Amino acid sequence: MAAKTRLVSVLGSTGSIGINTLDVIARHPDRFEVYALAAHSSVDSMLAQCLAFAPRYAVMMDEAAATLLRQRLPAGFPTQVRHGESGLAYIVTAPEVDVVMAAIVGAAGLPSTLAAARAGKTLLLANKEALVMGGHLLMQAVREAGARLLPIDSEHNAIFQCVPVNARAAPELRGVSKVLLTASGGPFRRWSLAQMTDATPDQACAHPNWSMGRKISVDSASLMNKGLELIEACWIFDLAPAQVDVVVHPQSIIHSMVRYVDGSVLAQLGNPDMRTAIAYGLGWPERLASGVAPLDLVTTARLDFEAPDETRFPCLRLAREAVVTGGTAMAVCNAANEVAVAAFLDEKIRFTDIPAVIEYTLERVDIVEPTSLSVVEDAVVQAREFAHGFLADLQHPTMAVKRV
Ligand code: NDP
Ligand code: MG
Repeated sequence: MAAKTRLVSVLGSTGSIGINTLDVIARHPDRFEVYALAAHSSVDSMLAQCLAFAPRYAVMMDEAAATLLRQRLPAGFPTQVRHGESGLAYIVTAPEVDVVMAAIVGAAGLPSTLAAARAGKTLLLANKEALVMGGHLLMQAVREAGARLLPIDSEHNAIFQCVPVNARAAPELRGVSKVLLTASGGPFRRWSLAQMTDATPDQACAHPNWSMGRKISVDSASLMNKGLELIEACWIFDLAPAQVDVVVHPQSIIHSMVRYVDGSVLAQLGNPDMRTAIAYGLGWPERLASGVAPLDLVTTARLDFEAPDETRFPCLRLAREAVVTGGTAMAVCNAANEVAVAAFLDEKIRFTDIPAVIEYTLERVDIVEPTSLSVVEDAVVQAREFAHGFLADLQHPTMAVKRV
């Protein structure tokens, strides 16, 4: 008997993960139907995606963008356009929806990701910031609503693939002694701190192995991405921070590893192409063709490993300290990082200022238990205020000249 067609809502469809998700879905028209697409304001891309996939709904966060999209869709086209948080909430909770791909970038994705979990959907989680900020709430919602969380971040997807089914179902990972998160080291792996002081946004976004959105590319360059992933691993796999080690692996072929108490280390390998993780999430527990080129180990030839350097990359240390502190510290760390990365991409601060903004903010915001979404959101508002306040002190005259 043919499997039932699964209806999918893709949040952040116009971004790097969203585009890759639609690429995999398009390879399996018998298995998946796009129920809804959502983005912020990229009308041209959304229009093209609507014409290609004819979803039932398209949601633009920005109201003016929604109006423009409505005008540009052909008369009588079946896609209904909605906007804002209520539009997002609708397409993640609608009873017909089976699968939600959460691939909005940043804190903006938290409410919709949480709503999908609370509605008991199969949640393909790319939006790591949602978990970093609201991990406690999100995991509780997954448990209580019986949602299924499938990690899409390549490292966590790799860990998920390396953990046997019986252990995955248990509250703790039986027999697991450590998780080894691999990190490419990013474009500045060999740069000195002095060189990084003058790094431009384009240099930070020129990732050696992965093609990704600009925010996560900067996070990869600062190693904050690995810090966020450390927090993500603790939540998804119910691990203590000390059970997660980071290993720099410049080739990005091993996507992460699991070490067991008997000395075994299981690794998942593949070319650095997010469609593998996306196809695994979409197809689980089956495997689907993803369009990813087969891994050629002879051409790869070498797999190197080194320890991360937390002196040149303090963001990794700051994220680890935040998860050890617990409570809203992770949300504060993430919010300060988002403010700092946006300012760096806007050429208002230097690359090396990013950890300073985070440290300053973490020292000032009161950390509390994240008992509700509004408690987390309050902490984020405070963190953003402190971070913005500090930015004013960091405006570099030379950079101001560059911006003109
Ligand atoms: P991109 O910047 O490429 O895309 C972001 C997407 O989110 C776009 O569709 C954008 O719409 C949409 N968006 C932004 N803000 C809002 C908002 N307020 N409301 C609704 N939609 C919004 O990001 P990536 O695809 O690179 O990353 C997405 C997430 O996945 C991030 O959390 C990232 O950390 C994670 N991730 C990404 C990986 C990658 O390989 N790219 C790997 C692992 C995790 P618009 O185009 O209209 O602005
Ligand atoms: Mg990753």
